[in-house]
Amino acid sequence: MSQPVVTRFAPSPSGELHLGNVRTALFNWLHARRHGGRFLLRIEDTDAERSRPEFAVQLLQDLRWLGLEWDAGPGREDAAAPYEQSRRSALYTAALERLERAGQVYPCYCSTLELEVSRRAQLASGKPPRYAGTCRNLDAAQRAARVAEGRQPTLRFKVPDTGKVEFTDLVHGAQIFACADLGDFVVRRADGSAAFFFSNALDDALMGVTVVLRGEDHLSNTPRQQLINAALGQPSPTYGHLSLITGDDGAPLSKRNGARSLRELREAGYLPEAIFNLLFRLGHSSAVLGMHDLATLAQHFDTAHLGRAPARFDFAQLEVFQKDAVHALTPERAAIWMQAHLPNGLAPETLRAFVAAIQPNVILPREVAEWAAVIFDDAAPAALADETSESRRLIREAGREFFLAAAAAVQASGTDWKALTTAVRTATNRKGPELFKPLRHALTGVGHGPELAPLLPLIGASRLQARFEHAATLA
Ligand code: GLU
Ligand code: ZN
Repeated sequence: MSQPVVTRFAPSPSGELHLGNVRTALFNWLHARRHGGRFLLRIEDTDAERSRPEFAVQLLQDLRWLGLEWDAGPGREDAAAPYEQSRRSALYTAALERLERAGQVYPCYCSTLELEVSRRAQLASGKPPRYAGTCRNLDAAQRAARVAEGRQPTLRFKVPDTGKVEFTDLVHGAQIFACADLGDFVVRRADGSAAFFFSNALDDALMGVTVVLRGEDHLSNTPRQQLINAALGQPSPTYGHLSLITGDDGAPLSKRNGARSLRELREAGYLPEAIFNLLFRLGHSSAVLGMHDLATLAQHFDTAHLGRAPARFDFAQLEVFQKDAVHALTPERAAIWMQAHLPNGLAPETLRAFVAAIQPNVILPREVAEWAAVIFDDAAPAALADETSESRRLIREAGREFFLAAAAAVQASGTDWKALTTAVRTATNRKGPELFKPLRHALTGVGHGPELAPLLPLIGASRLQARFEHAATLA
């Protein structure tokens, strides 16, 4: 039997989760589920300046909200815990000491300025910049002299002078990096903390991770991480580097072209189903159509279908999925989803009736609020204040008698739609659109929307009558 699949998501809590991170989390989750494996969550919070505990807390909430529960990670510790890198420094120190004893790393005393000067010189002479090896062969006396100057060394990994690092990326195929191009890289910072390359590679090995799907920006880190693993005598996971996500304008998805954090999307009322169905297709082609739950998507997730081309985030498609997701909500979930946008103190049966009436017609809670205003506010719909509106034109065409008949019908038979339309038809001889359109516009100020019959009892007889009487004055 082949090795069980273990994937992980390893975010740095230096900001809110955006759609790029979320897709990475989703793909790792799906891949683990697809293969009956495990999905781990590791918080890469070693950068004390940029990491913030509140971002870590929020990203756990975000993942749970999406349904991407982890098999091990914060709050779900197992033998490989802790899952916060800030709590793992002893492990990094021990592994770095092993490399020191084996002579695979050496202290580098170069200052930031010296490194920058060297980098510019290499660029100026047309060479790709890499560490020049300045401190690689210092003898004990030279080291002591630098220490005496008060220099705090970093620790660099000794990359072999010759040879190459080869691996197969699940997305990009065969990769070959010449060691000579890599340059000795920092594995421990001057403050003693482990560098990203190192803690990331070590933890994947210690946690038994077999497959890493992560952003394309990490592809060039991978040969260094393979060297670290080889030096520590531990296996490297298989990597797949996911294509960039771009906005509508083809530029990388960012605030500028409309990217929003997961929190912002959630607060705007987007549902998890809409988001993960869209992300499933971002850089991953699939024959499966329509909306599905996570378990079904997992059955159709295939790393062989990951694309190299940048994936365009399609906001219109998000709306399509959102619409389907809203329509598919159970009445209970729909009520919860809408509740925050409804007037307080609605009776439970009113709430239920309202939710049922408008659910087929809304995509976002903003529209819920609009319908709530139309139905529960005493004021006439805003469009009726505008003389040039379609509503006012139709009201003028229908005429005063039409709305007086409607008001009288409400007075006579209350909120019954059938009785209302029959009475107005009999009184005015109008039928079809000539009958229905002016009624709808007078009541709602728009030409589209939920069926009117279930709305009338929610609007209530007195407001209905007032709206028709008001329309009569505008006709
Ligand atoms: N903490 C890194 C990041 O968020 C993890 C990269 C990786 O998945 O290996 O970019
Ligand atoms: Zn140096």
